Amino acid sequence: MTNDTTPSQIARKTLSTLAERKIAPTPDNYARLYQEICGKPAADSADKTVALDAQPLQESIDDKLKLAWPKLINDLLTQMDASHKGVTLTRKKQGVGTVLNKFNNDADVLFSKLQLLIASWGVAATPSPNEQIPATMESAAEKISISPASENILDTPIVATIDIKLVEQLRELLAQSLESTHCENPDLKIELLSLPQQARTTNDYGQAIKLNKQLRKFWANLKLSYKDHFFIQEGLMRLFRLVVENVGELVTEDRWLHDQILSLQAIIEHPVSKHTIATAERNLRSTIIKQSLLKQNMIEAKITLKSLMTSFIDRLSEMTDDTGAYHTKIEGYSLKIGQTDNITELSRILDDIMQDTRIIQASSMRSHEELISTRQQAQIAEERVKQLEQELEHVSELVREDKLTGALNRRGLDDVLDREIKRAERQKTPVSVALLDIDNFKQLNDSLGHQGGDEALIHLTQVVKNALRPTDEVARYGGEEFLIILIDTSLEEAMATITRLQRELTKSYFLYNNARQLITFSAGVALHASGEEPESTIGRADGAMYKAKRAGKNRVFAAD
Ligand code: GH3
Ligand code: MG
Ligand code: MG
Repeated sequence: MTNDTTPSQIARKTLSTLAERKIAPTPDNYARLYQEICGKPAADSADKTVALDAQPLQESIDDKLKLAWPKLINDLLTQMDASHKGVTLTRKKQGVGTVLNKFNNDADVLFSKLQLLIASWGVAATPSPNEQIPATMESAAEKISISPASENILDTPIVATIDIKLVEQLRELLAQSLESTHCENPDLKIELLSLPQQARTTNDYGQAIKLNKQLRKFWANLKLSYKDHFFIQEGLMRLFRLVVENVGELVTEDRWLHDQILSLQAIIEHPVSKHTIATAERNLRSTIIKQSLLKQNMIEAKITLKSLMTSFIDRLSEMTDDTGAYHTKIEGYSLKIGQTDNITELSRILDDIMQDTRIIQASSMRSHEELISTRQQAQIAEERVKQLEQELEHVSELVREDKLTGALNRRGLDDVLDREIKRAERQKTPVSVALLDIDNFKQLNDSLGHQGGDEALIHLTQVVKNALRPTDEVARYGGEEFLIILIDTSLEEAMATITRLQRELTKSYFLYNNARQLITFSAGVALHASGEEPESTIGRADGAMYKAKRAGKNRVFAAD
């Protein structure tokens, strides 16, 4: 037996019991439960066409409905005349007409639809801008919602009976929606756990309003919480981007990277909030700036060190003379310096250079000293060579003999001839000259070779010297041409002497390679005329010699 006494209380209880027991809200079930709550015997459930007016309970409802109708008609008339914004009297009448056409001769339906219609005018009384006000029963019913204007709808058991299924479905839908809602915020998570149950157990308008308010607040908090969540995610992404972007830019030392990762891990391990993220970002940014400055300093230091080392090497290479090994080493170091960015590596290269430099410097100093000494020696030698050359020149000037034959050379000839001519002119004695040219000497050279030719020249000179008087002079005038100065000798005597010489040469044959070689010559003889230039006398003798050649060689001709 229940304490609920008013029909609406009984109806509400019936609805909640139906929901609790998960009984389908059919008219039969509703009626049976209603009776149960009233404490009255249940109707025959087998009869599916249970008519409300056939049951004692139904009679009671009818009585109550009878009391409700006058109130409804009164409301209808009052609201008809009342002013509702956006709903004209014509539209209200049209709405009532539509309800009267569509209530299917069912008094309950009529009651309910009229109630909804009146309520819809009330909803329309405070419409939102641009909202289409439902003027018909159908649209009002479709828009049934928990709102102050429709409170009396849920307050009425008959109306609830009609829409119970829809309401039930909506409540279940809401509950399930809440159950599938995901929430990370711990406080909101607890609240979310209780909400589906509340949605399922909301049976009256008061509870619905309360749930509505609670849900609005919950969604607003959830939205805020997701906003925070979004900011945190975005902040973290920024942090990671900063780290990733700057890892390559900053000093590539494992230690730095390790520290940054540790600080990020520390942030992630603790509950993350907007504030911790912002602090971490600030710290990381300042670290990055510091690292960038440090890196810049290091780059500048490296550049300075590089330029120092390069100019050092340049100076070093200028310092000493070129040696293959030294320059190969220096080039190697230059290449290494150009290739490395590592300051430790640069320091090591510098050490190596210093080490090598000490050795190279010592050796180059030695080389330098040696070079200076060599240069001094070379200068001395050069001076000596010049001196010797001058001496040689002087000595050559003194030479009057042909090296090969030992006869006078041209210089000796000139001196002797000049001297003898002067003496002859002073003593008024004759002096003759004979120019001899070996016949076919080319052939001799060809057959015996140059050496043989030389030997032949020596042989001839000896024969001439032996055949002449000791006062006579023999000079090598050209290649195989000889000039004989016959002192105190007339032309005839000179001719006789040269002819005798011809014979002597034939007798004193030239032996070469154990073979006898015949040497003949053609000669021109000239007597020096008084006051005549020596060259002129020689020229006349040469003319006579030419004639002898043309005459068939091996002859002696006197000049005119
Ligand atoms: P020709 O009877 O017309 O005089 O004939 P040739 O062969 O003697 O002709 P020519 O005077 O043109 O040639 C002289 C040659 O003597 C040419 C040269 O090679 C040779 N001769 C000159 N001086 C020397 C020397 O010092 N030693 C040797 N071996 N040969 C010499
Ligand atoms: Mg000749
Ligand atoms: Mg000749």
